[in-house]
Amino acid sequence: MSKSLQAIRGMNDILPEQTPLWRYFEGTVARLLDNYGYKQIRMPIVEFTELFKRSIGEVTDIVEKEMYTFEDRNGDSLTLRPEGTAACVRAVLEHGITGGGQVQKLWYIGPMFRHERPQKGRYRQFHQIGLEVFNLDGPDIDAELIIMTWRLWGELGIRDAVKLELNSLGTSESRGRYREALVEYLSAHHDKLDEDSQRRLKTNPLRVLDTKNADTQAVLVDAPKMADYLDDESRAHFEGLKARLDAVGIPYVLNPKLVRGLDYYSKTVFEWVTDKLGAQGTVCAGGRYDGLVEQMGGKPTAGVGFAMGIERLVLMLETLEQIPEEISRQVDVYLCAFGEQAELAGLALAERVRDQLPNLRLQVNAGAGSFKSQFKKADKSGALHALILGDDEMAQQVVGFKPLRGQGEQQSIAWDALAAHLATCVVQG
Ligand code: ATP
Ligand code: MG
Repeated sequence: MSKSLQAIRGMNDILPEQTPLWRYFEGTVARLLDNYGYKQIRMPIVEFTELFKRSIGEVTDIVEKEMYTFEDRNGDSLTLRPEGTAACVRAVLEHGITGGGQVQKLWYIGPMFRHERPQKGRYRQFHQIGLEVFNLDGPDIDAELIIMTWRLWGELGIRDAVKLELNSLGTSESRGRYREALVEYLSAHHDKLDEDSQRRLKTNPLRVLDTKNADTQAVLVDAPKMADYLDDESRAHFEGLKARLDAVGIPYVLNPKLVRGLDYYSKTVFEWVTDKLGAQGTVCAGGRYDGLVEQMGGKPTAGVGFAMGIERLVLMLETLEQIPEEISRQVDVYLCAFGEQAELAGLALAERVRDQLPNLRLQVNAGAGSFKSQFKKADKSGALHALILGDDEMAQQVVGFKPLRGQGEQQSIAWDALAAHLATCVVQG
């Protein structure tokens, strides 16, 4: 195939056999968010480049090397969103919906774009469900976000396969003091750091903490600890969060090296990680960003949020075989009709049944065909039952009802009684 007819590397089609699992996952999350009182917001996929530079930070991996940036026909620099927080903050500010201390509990879903090296669990177009809360500054809401994800893992059957890592970055003042101490320590060991860390030491020193390089990790063993620099307020906030997680019984691991990739976090940061997906182990990550709204031109506004990677979570459901049986069957009943008159009667009958059973997944055979070929299609559809309309049935105004899975004889059901009969024997989702 010529190259122009292929999808872009790292940008995947989600094929019909995969979409039921995506919809199950997305539906489960959406229902949970509704139940906890979160409202959906939808932002554009493209924003001014400046928005991401200002919010995410100039010296982060995303802004330095991962953004899809282009000039539009007016000469404006635009970027495909690499994450959702920046656009969400822009939207709430633009529409004034966080003004005067108004609490907003928002969520969004959609594609994000980062020019990374594609591999399992890491793509260039990927999908997130994200959530942002504004104007609540206590640890209770940090706890709620985590509790909600904990419930989600429970509902999805993957709770045993994920682990919560937690840290506090403190306020920007205490973080500043810690940064100074860290830079001083690391500068004294400059020669032992890997090249990337030497560079980060100058641009974004906290990021040295999450290096994968063994030599640098060895240097970090005796480095100053962030926890020793926490201000009282951040310490109390962190204790408040831990107390709430303890009260609900959610286990966590303190990870003092957890700093997150983006510049805007303060106080709480967390990640849900798994060892079931190889190197791409973080399935959900977030934290508090009390300074971000102000940094983007708004009034000081507390903020906290997270985002989860849908591909990684879907991959986890597949890997752990946590795919509910009912989502693999997409047809309940398949109607076969033989001859022109039967086809017309079948169409009308199907619509009547749909009026009475709006949740019934009823597929009407299209493309005519012999008894044998229609029956084959009925079977292949995965339907539990076939409905049959031929000359005999037409004459008697009945429909043949034939179980396709397991035992059971074919029965004749009067047209008027069909919906009632289906209601008793087809499990409705
Ligand atoms: P990572 O350390 O894996 O690169 P990140 O810190 O860059 O993740 P965030 O910006 O916090 O990720 O995004 C939240 C979640 O979105 C991640 O935990 C992950 O599940 C998912 N995610 C991020 N980047 C990708 C990607 N390129 N492909 C697929 N999923 C991704
Ligand atoms: Mg990343």
